[in-house]
Amino acid sequence: MTSREIRQAFLDFFVSKGHLIVPSAPLVAKNDPTLMFNNSGMAQFKDYFLGNGTPPSTRIADTQKCLRVSGKHNDLEDVGFDTYHHTMFEMLGNWSFGDYFKKEALHWSWELLTVVYQLPKDRLYVSVFGGDEKDGVPFDQEAFDIWKEILGSEDHILLGNKKDNFWEMGEVGPCGPCSEIHIDLRDQAEVDRVPGKSLVNADHPQVVEIWNNVFMQFERKADGSLIPLPARHVDTGMGFERLCMAIQKKQSNYDTDVFSGTIGFVANASGKKYGEEKWADIAMRVVADHIRAIAFAISDGQLPSNVRAGYVIRRILRRAVRYGYTYLGFREPFLYSLVPLLAEQFDGVFPELKAQQDFVAKVIQEEEAAFLRTLEKGLTLLDKILVQQPGEAGGVIDGQTVFELNDTFGFPVDLTALIAREKGFTIDEAGYQKALAEQKERSRKDAATEKSDWIELAEAGKTVFLGYDQLESDSVIL
Ligand code: ATP
Ligand code: MG
Ligand code: MG
Ligand code: MG
Repeated sequence: MTSREIRQAFLDFFVSKGHLIVPSAPLVAKNDPTLMFNNSGMAQFKDYFLGNGTPPSTRIADTQKCLRVSGKHNDLEDVGFDTYHHTMFEMLGNWSFGDYFKKEALHWSWELLTVVYQLPKDRLYVSVFGGDEKDGVPFDQEAFDIWKEILGSEDHILLGNKKDNFWEMGEVGPCGPCSEIHIDLRDQAEVDRVPGKSLVNADHPQVVEIWNNVFMQFERKADGSLIPLPARHVDTGMGFERLCMAIQKKQSNYDTDVFSGTIGFVANASGKKYGEEKWADIAMRVVADHIRAIAFAISDGQLPSNVRAGYVIRRILRRAVRYGYTYLGFREPFLYSLVPLLAEQFDGVFPELKAQQDFVAKVIQEEEAAFLRTLEKGLTLLDKILVQQPGEAGGVIDGQTVFELNDTFGFPVDLTALIAREKGFTIDEAGYQKALAEQKERSRKDAATEKSDWIELAEAGKTVFLGYDQLESDSVIL
């Protein structure tokens, strides 16, 4: 099956079970001060679960564009380094708003995976919430019994902890146990050697979580007690790219037809082959991943900028440019040339990209050009520093200089380290961390006296973003 067919089969399956298909909400969360980007399928339905609105149907399904680069879910640092976490990904989901519950949801999950998609039953594992006495939340006996009936035994059922198998909207509000489905995609020899069950939720690249079924059945009160909800809901999310990896029998999401076009294009443009060099491979994955986040964010109306969501998008773009520059040899804007390919790939699925394809490409190209100029400036400066300091092997660039290159010229630390290394220098990592910590401390003091998210630093004549802790340091988005 192609990825297009896989997505359509999901939607068709849930239509056959009485679901209404709705479009994806934009990547950028609108009207939700607690969320910068939509990071799950349920985000756009929050009001229905809170009883603040009525859904158009009690059964809904869709594919939602998600972005996990900030806040509670931040996978950015894994992207490129592993093969199954993305910044932007599609989450396939089905929902019951006070309609069906665990029995239907779990039976349908199993039917879709094993009958429609024909995934091998002996490679699937499920987890149910094992209970947490301290927190007063009970073992999910109901889900356990349903799975035992479906599977015919307990062999492939795992009991999970609160972190993986219990969902809460916040400190108070709706919550409930979840049941995840994982798949073991390793070679048979490996499976014979090490049982798949022992690798579930253990960060093994070929034993991955594909689907999560959340059952909202409690409400957490302010005093910590749990009371049953009068209307119980189902909220599920399945990672589309991981599902494609499983169905297409690949070892990595990037080997599926979701990414093969972009990876092939980047490989071709850089004159390198994917799968031959560790860092070039990482860079190709970073580029293939990030261009999606950037292109879809812009087509959803979020331009790169110096504040909030725009700042996050700008830095994702710069991360991609930098990997391309450092490991793939791109010296001219190149990301923008991937836009037509994506527009075609998602035509009819997320039509907003094709509709604005030229505009999106132009914005990206200008951002790239501007950042490449900064990179060049940093390089020239670095060259001067490397000449000033003793040239013999073993020279060290002091931490304050590394920090200034980063802070003033936007010159990423690991690029400094890389170039330094090429010229026989090292960088004073500890000194850099110290300078960074001092700057953070200054920011915190400034922030404490400021009411808004960002302020003009008059003396430096530049604008600094002070909200969102995780954005303060370049170590997050390099
Ligand atoms: P993981 O443990 O692998 O990080 P998760 O438990 O954080 O996943 P959920 O919040 O349960 O993920 O989201 C539902 C599904 O979305 C997951 O089962 C997975 O298939 C998919 N998913 C989650 N995060 C990502 C990501 N960064 N990239 C691609 N797919 C993802
Ligand atoms: Mg996660
Ligand atoms: Mg998980
Ligand atoms: Mg999960």
